[in-house]
Amino acid sequence: MKRRDFFKSFSSIALLGALPSALKAKNQKAEYNWKMVTTWPKNFPGLGTGAQYLADSINKLSGGRIKVTVYGAGELVPAFEIFDAVSNGVAELGHGSAYYWKGKNDTFQFFSTVPFGMTANEMNSWLYKGGGMELWEQAYSDFNLLPMAAGNTGVQMGGWFNKEINSLSDLKGLKMRIPGLGGEVLKRAGGTPVNLPGGELFTALKTGTIDATEWVSPYNDLAFGLHKAAKFYYYPGWHEPGTTLECFVNKDKYLELPEDLRSILLGASKMANLDMLCEMISRNNEALQILQDKHKVDIRPYPDEVLNELYEISKNVVKELSSSSDFAKEVYNSYSSFQEKTRNWNNISLKSYLNIKK
Ligand code: CA
Repeated sequence: MKRRDFFKSFSSIALLGALPSALKAKNQKAEYNWKMVTTWPKNFPGLGTGAQYLADSINKLSGGRIKVTVYGAGELVPAFEIFDAVSNGVAELGHGSAYYWKGKNDTFQFFSTVPFGMTANEMNSWLYKGGGMELWEQAYSDFNLLPMAAGNTGVQMGGWFNKEINSLSDLKGLKMRIPGLGGEVLKRAGGTPVNLPGGELFTALKTGTIDATEWVSPYNDLAFGLHKAAKFYYYPGWHEPGTTLECFVNKDKYLELPEDLRSILLGASKMANLDMLCEMISRNNEALQILQDKHKVDIRPYPDEVLNELYEISKNVVKELSSSSDFAKEVYNSYSSFQEKTRNWNNISLKSYLNIKK
């Protein structure tokens, strides 16, 4: 066959194949009607939209054979009950972040983020190619769940303050909204961590109920108007350097799927994982410019001395997580040895490249 003929016949075969399946997708009656419960308000920027993107991708890639309906926090079950809801089969899928379930097991926090832990690319490399995913699967198997990485915020910001942070002593007595392990680090530095849902941050900061807060990064922080409640915006988010979002599936429901739909589910989560990170980065670029140019926000780095001291405290806080069980030790060892190796490589690749003055 001549090259031209080959392409001609190839494209007509491809077309013949594509047309009926496209029609099929439109008219297909769903074989699986699934519910996805989430910890976010429906279509909340970046996170809720990320859950919706994943649901839409599963619908499209499966040609309509799986139809996923997304429920915002509180619509079907409260935000922090989605883990149990999916574990018990009330819904098939859940979308959140592993550190929310530390009450089940402290070790889960490694699958989300830890202070001075790995960045988005490092996390993905550990999860997909460094043994992290297998450990995460093991961790959730006790709860009849299969986890998938389904998004990442990238490096977050340090937070909003109404006073300058020049030394660690400036954190003493500071009442700051900072959840999880970051909060524990702040406590050991003399501050008072509090946990508040995102929707209450603006008022709490404006009225002085709290002195400072972290949220996410420019895209999400601008949406909440936090620049109207605080003077200084510090970076980087040492406490959340690359938070992984998750989608977990009820294992019985997963095993009911034929092989091709299982692959579609796992493939769609990888698409969603990349898509959210890219959305966060591109929207942060725009929002940062608005905060700088339009709102003239005082954006400044934490002094090196403060970061170094927070790092020393964090090392102990994170290491303590490894003491609860043999499994916790295994996860800690896997995470920290991967982080050390990837740091060595990043220092001579990414970091040295970004340090070039351009
Ligand atoms: Ca945060």
